[in-house]
Amino acid sequence: MTYFYRARQKLSDMLRYTPTPIVEITDPIVEKAGVRVLMKREDLNHPLVSGNKWWKLKYNLEEAQQQNKKTLLTFGGAYSNHIYATAAAASELGFNCIGIIRGEETLPLNNTLSFAKQQRMNLHYVSREQYRTKATPEFINRLQQQFGDFYLIPEGGTNKLAVTGATEFAQTLGHDFDYVCCAVGTGGTLAGLINGLPSKKTIGFSVLKNGEFLKHDVERWVGEKHHWQIMTDYHFGGYAKTTRVLEQFIQQFEERNNIPLEHVYTGKMMAGVYDLIQKGYFQKGSTILTLHTGGLQGKRLF
Ligand SMILES: *Cc1c(COP(=O)(O)O)cnc(C)c1O
Repeated sequence: MTYFYRARQKLSDMLRYTPTPIVEITDPIVEKAGVRVLMKREDLNHPLVSGNKWWKLKYNLEEAQQQNKKTLLTFGGAYSNHIYATAAAASELGFNCIGIIRGEETLPLNNTLSFAKQQRMNLHYVSREQYRTKATPEFINRLQQQFGDFYLIPEGGTNKLAVTGATEFAQTLGHDFDYVCCAVGTGGTLAGLINGLPSKKTIGFSVLKNGEFLKHDVERWVGEKHHWQIMTDYHFGGYAKTTRVLEQFIQQFEERNNIPLEHVYTGKMMAGVYDLIQKGYFQKGSTILTLHTGGLQGKRLF
């Protein structure tokens, strides 16, 4: 077997989708409100490239291979699930991989970054000020001078091909629900849901403080559509921040449903869904499909 044949074979192995279950969430709050809550366990789709990151990388990996790129380059913070997933995918598929990491190196490396390093991701730290300019042609030019040719994947993995992957994910969800809910970081996943499920009410929960700008970012990918909304009150202090209330919610949910949640994404989204249920936001008798988008590598262990 030639190298290229093997690489192609590995890609098709990795991109063979393992269907994940949809499970019912039980809770007195849910019963009392007269709604049904389901959860799509997309966290189970791949052990390392999990949840929405698998779908967002899918067509980017194909494209990188088609363009005969040897190196992937991407961006993220020190706790980024996207950095973790990209490092694992690159290692599995034989790409070199460069991670542009926001902020200074902190030793010892946390789980995310030490895993990325083990997968032979080349970690390159830039100041927060520089990081803010990461999408400018000047900055990207400098990276090309420094690292040579690469296939660039933006922060959080969100680009057109990522939205295409998320749209395909949306189309695996069937039709037995009225609302679909997911956590929002960059909005790429939400955009795919909006495009793939035109007849469902689609609700994103911003995990960032001041997440109002996300509406505009999502509009870039979906155009003029109105069956969706972003909730901005469930960030619990901001990205990767947590509170006692959130931790208690997660613990209780895990005990009741035996499903692990983390505090960065799915935990916040579920806390938001429960709050809206209690406020009577969802129509009685309706079914709410929540998405477990994975990323349990970032789970805080107490
Ligand atoms: C990255 C991530 C998200 C956010 O996805 P976006 O497409 O950036 O909005 C949601 N959940 C998990 C677990 C993630 O890792």
